[in-house]
Amino acid sequence: MDLRASSKVDLHRHLEGAVRPGTIIELYREAGTPLAETTPEELAPVAQVLRPMGSLAEVLAYFRVAQEAFRSLDAVERVASEAVEDLAADNVRLAELRFSPDFLCRSAGLDWDEAFGAILAGVARAREVHDVEVGFIAIAGRWSSPFGTGKGWSDSTSPTTRWPGRRPCSPTSCPRSARPACT
Ligand SMILES: [Zn+2]
Repeated sequence: MDLRASSKVDLHRHLEGAVRPGTIIELYREAGTPLAETTPEELAPVAQVLRPMGSLAEVLAYFRVAQEAFRSLDAVERVASEAVEDLAADNVRLAELRFSPDFLCRSAGLDWDEAFGAILAGVARAREVHDVEVGFIAIAGRWSSPFGTGKGWSDSTSPTTRWPGRRPCSPTSCPRSARPACT
């Protein structure tokens, strides 16, 4: 059986973890702060987890290189569009693309609503030519969610507005036992 040629479902693809190494290099260059590494092969040892890590913190340190590539909404749109292209190349027909608005937007101070709009635009552009159904999972801690304090989505972009009938987890909707699994 040729698994590569088979149609697939991918229920756990992280947008920020699936950025093409070549794109990371180009985005740094376009932002005027080129990386010392100029090829995907050179970038891999500093930006990809290629060996067992001792802690989550150590893993996240490797993701920081990709995180700091998200300098503009155009960059976010490009990454989202390429993620769908890569799903199609893997013969994935239905995918859940998950992303953390906080992680994605923090380095460049991007607006959460606008970044989500850029993701939707990038995915829509790629879906014009690729037959991949895409759902989204936004990973947001309660401290930065509409239920928390301070920053978060505006009403127009909040999950409850965009997907009526579905609610993000909240202290009242989510049993305590399930909370660690849903942020
Ligand atoms: Zn995950």
